[in-house]
Amino acid sequence: MTGQIDTTRPHPARMYDWYLGGKDNYPVDEEMGRQMLTLDPRVPVMARVNRAFMHRATRWLAHNGVRQFLDIGTGIPTEPNLHQVAQGIAPDARVVYCDNDPIVLAHAAALLRGTDQGATEYLQADVRDPDAILEGAKKVLDLTRPVALSLIALLHFVSDQDGAHGLVRRLLAALPSGSYLVVTHATSDFTPEESKAATEKLRAAGVTLALRSREEFTRFFDGLDLVEPGVEVPHHWHPELGEPVPGQDDGVIPGYGAVARKP
Ligand code: SAH
Repeated sequence: MTGQIDTTRPHPARMYDWYLGGKDNYPVDEEMGRQMLTLDPRVPVMARVNRAFMHRATRWLAHNGVRQFLDIGTGIPTEPNLHQVAQGIAPDARVVYCDNDPIVLAHAAALLRGTDQGATEYLQADVRDPDAILEGAKKVLDLTRPVALSLIALLHFVSDQDGAHGLVRRLLAALPSGSYLVVTHATSDFTPEESKAATEKLRAAGVTLALRSREEFTRFFDGLDLVEPGVEVPHHWHPELGEPVPGQDDGVIPGYGAVARKP
């Protein structure tokens, strides 16, 4: 079951594509995107800052010997994608992408053009079904060897009712010592009123937004060893590994990012 593209309500993957200036979105996504901009005009910069974090974290992991990547909540392809960054450093890197939105499946071919030495695969699956993801991932990744599990700008779409923290535990439990967890997440810590208004607008349109505090974010890494500098606003995490995003200043971006190693 791949599902139909529903153009009657906004979808996070398509709104994010609109923020990034992509073409794979519909009027309903742009309309909600514009409403988000009235609450915080920095949203497009936040999207680019988030994407740039993914690039730097992937570079850091590849430089530190990681050769297998499981990326859930991949989004509509936007170059460079994770496999291009990883295989640019390690051509033998193996990458499994996963998203539950049918529009990502429709564009997945761009995620599958990688090196001959490495491998890329795409799974249409929901993070709330970790067993299905792990089963699919096993076809390409050797789960007895370290894997970087990346959940980039995904978990703020997964509610506590759906057990966001437990799902991350279950995925990590299947990965060996030396694996990594990479997460970015939007927060209401810095902009509580705008965050509440955004959450309500999205809920009314059928989109769950589960913004989390620094403490709730940090709990995703319980039992893991945080890589320096620990939990940070995304643009302060190893800025030396990439270029600054145009339009980004040192001001607060209402989100957190971190990378941690499974001992
Ligand atoms: N990781 C990318 C895209 C972030 S947008 C980046 O940071 O650039 C969030 C993505 O998560 C969207 O593509 C959306 O379809 C996906 N997503 C949301 N809920 C999901 C779920 N329950 N299971 C899998 N993917 C989900």
